[in-house]
Amino acid sequence: MRKRRVTAALFFQLGLAFGLAGSAFAQDKCQAPIATYNVRNIDIDTFSVEASINKPTSRFDVFAFPIKERPEGQSESILFLQGYAQNGDPVDLHYVGEGGWETDEGKYVSRITYQVRADHDEVDWGKDAPGKDEVATRFDETYFFVGHAFFVINYDWPACPIEVDFELSEEWIITSPWKMTGRTAIAANPWNLGQNAFAMGLDEPRTAELSGLDITWLISSDAKEIEGRINELMDVIPRTYIDFFGSAPGNRYATYFFTDYMSDGGAFENSFAMRIAKPISPADEIVWSHTLGHEIMHLWNGAGAIQGKKPDQTYWFTEGFTDYLTIKLMRKAGLIDDNMLMQRIANVLRRYEIAKRRSPNVTLADAGKSKGANWELIYGGGALAALILDAEASKQGTNTFRDAMRDLYEHSDNPYELDDLMERLDRSTNGKASQIVTWVNSSPSANDIRQRLIPLGIDSTTFRFDEVYVVFLECGKNSCAPDFLAGL
Ligand SMILES: [Zn+2]
Repeated sequence: MRKRRVTAALFFQLGLAFGLAGSAFAQDKCQAPIATYNVRNIDIDTFSVEASINKPTSRFDVFAFPIKERPEGQSESILFLQGYAQNGDPVDLHYVGEGGWETDEGKYVSRITYQVRADHDEVDWGKDAPGKDEVATRFDETYFFVGHAFFVINYDWPACPIEVDFELSEEWIITSPWKMTGRTAIAANPWNLGQNAFAMGLDEPRTAELSGLDITWLISSDAKEIEGRINELMDVIPRTYIDFFGSAPGNRYATYFFTDYMSDGGAFENSFAMRIAKPISPADEIVWSHTLGHEIMHLWNGAGAIQGKKPDQTYWFTEGFTDYLTIKLMRKAGLIDDNMLMQRIANVLRRYEIAKRRSPNVTLADAGKSKGANWELIYGGGALAALILDAEASKQGTNTFRDAMRDLYEHSDNPYELDDLMERLDRSTNGKASQIVTWVNSSPSANDIRQRLIPLGIDSTTFRFDEVYVVFLECGKNSCAPDFLAGL
């Protein structure tokens, strides 16, 4: 469920990458790929990578998730990194911390070579970092990597395509969200290469085509027993979301499923990865199927289309609205029933009650500065705002909330400043969005929330702060859930 965690150093670069990504002007300037990477499997668990670069460069990065056993994070699996100048002379690259390498001043490189050791499973990335789903792992006869753990690149390069030639053993299959020409992948820009997951090996993924979106999913053999359920969800969820938003961003989407000691997922631009808890169980399915729905929703909100220019200011929207939409649309698709819907709404309200204790006097926009500490406010407060906005906007018109989300999605070529995002939402909802955010920021009591929800068809009660119950007040033809929620 956590989207991404980057070091302070990378945050700066991330902003730049965001600023450039998707800009038609920048795309037009690209005469050729900014770099071409060549990937070979040279030994068990070892890849050799060579890159020729069209823009001489003095700085390279992988993402850095420092953990106890690997203080320098993913960079510890990058070996023998060597740079070369245009004339072929070797140029040293010095490791400068936080996943970065630099040349001596005034020196630039046009070619690099290095090896990647697929040793990531020797340590647990789940304790202090987002988990192996956001780094790298092995399953069956497949190597799984997130681009930012494998490709040593410069995130400040212009938003021009990067080519990757996979010169792997012939029988190996490449699963990726990138456009493929034969065994050459073309990522749209540096960010698109780093912020996506791919896999290489002998295992074959499943594919489906939905309204122009090619979906690929690869499941590890130890998750075989839930393959049927995953297949069903991978069919129904994207279809429901495409229906809601009117289309899908991009035309390729790659997903990966493997097991771990807990269930969680990581969303990237046009891909996501999920780890599912062993032993696989019906109770945990409630969690992982929701996580799956949440990660897919990020294709529209948070990773693939709608993004915040300063992501920390908009986490309440990219995470909270994502979580709410997941609940709503999974109900709409018939994947959960009214009872589960009531539990999920109760969870949102409980999470917000906890948020008020854990993050007193923190606004939604400030909560993202410390995503871990304010997790309940970001997810609970954000989802509460979405719930009330949807319900109250539905009084203006049946599809007001949906159209407001579509409007944001359709204008998401560039990341949103928080003010622009709010302005757009307000325009669609007659100022409701800002009013509701201000109200959530005023820390409404459980009773205030109860009073506001009753006219919307949701009866809620809270005992202390950690017991919350929800009952839907009116029974329609097929459901007791209010129409705005069940979409009937
Ligand atoms: Zn998320």
